[in-house]
Amino acid sequence: MIPDENFIQVPGVPGPTKEEIRCLVMCKAQLSKSDVVVDVGCGSGGITVESALRARKVYAIDRNPEAVKLTQQNLKKHEISGNVQLLKGDALEVLDELKSFDVLLVGGSNGDLPLIISLGYEKLKKAGKIVVSSILLETRVEAVDTFKKLGMEPEIVEVFIAKGKLMSRGTMMMGRNPVTIISAVKHSE
Ligand code: SAH
Repeated sequence: MIPDENFIQVPGVPGPTKEEIRCLVMCKAQLSKSDVVVDVGCGSGGITVESALRARKVYAIDRNPEAVKLTQQNLKKHEISGNVQLLKGDALEVLDELKSFDVLLVGGSNGDLPLIISLGYEKLKKAGKIVVSSILLETRVEAVDTFKKLGMEPEIVEVFIAKGKLMSRGTMMMGRNPVTIISAVKHSE
């Protein structure tokens, strides 16, 4: 996993997803070298870069042009070229134009999560996976409800990471925001 400080960061573009959370997203996504991956809300490119190192092809989508630009810079910094296609636009519109894929990763949705999951599900190959990272209370519930409606069985993992900061008197544990990772596999018909 790439340390957070190895990503270029700019004000106004969220991310990269913290290293320990990227670890869990990759753990649940279980990418293989033959996979086609879609990263919805690529932000700074944290998840896009990790996916590109593990999969055959990655489509990285963001509606914010600055995020697309920054993801491109981070791909270059990590010497990744060729297997990532950057797509600027709204997730629903871009997803609609894509063919089938093996894994859908959702790191940003802005109110469209149920529709993004439903459209993604239609395009997902058999045994394909959807992994949603959620920081808002509401999106956790939306993700679980949408997976259930689609007949998928969601796995829900909530993590509270605290990192130690060395101080003169000892090590202060500094808590980070809790993140929930909701994932599900498409059953073979
Ligand atoms: N995983 C990223 C951080 C994601 S931040 C990283 O590791 O760097 C969430 C991103 O989702 C933001 O850049 C935001 O612009 C994007 N986003 C939110 N809703 C979206 C939508 N409906 N369509 C496209 N992009 C969206």
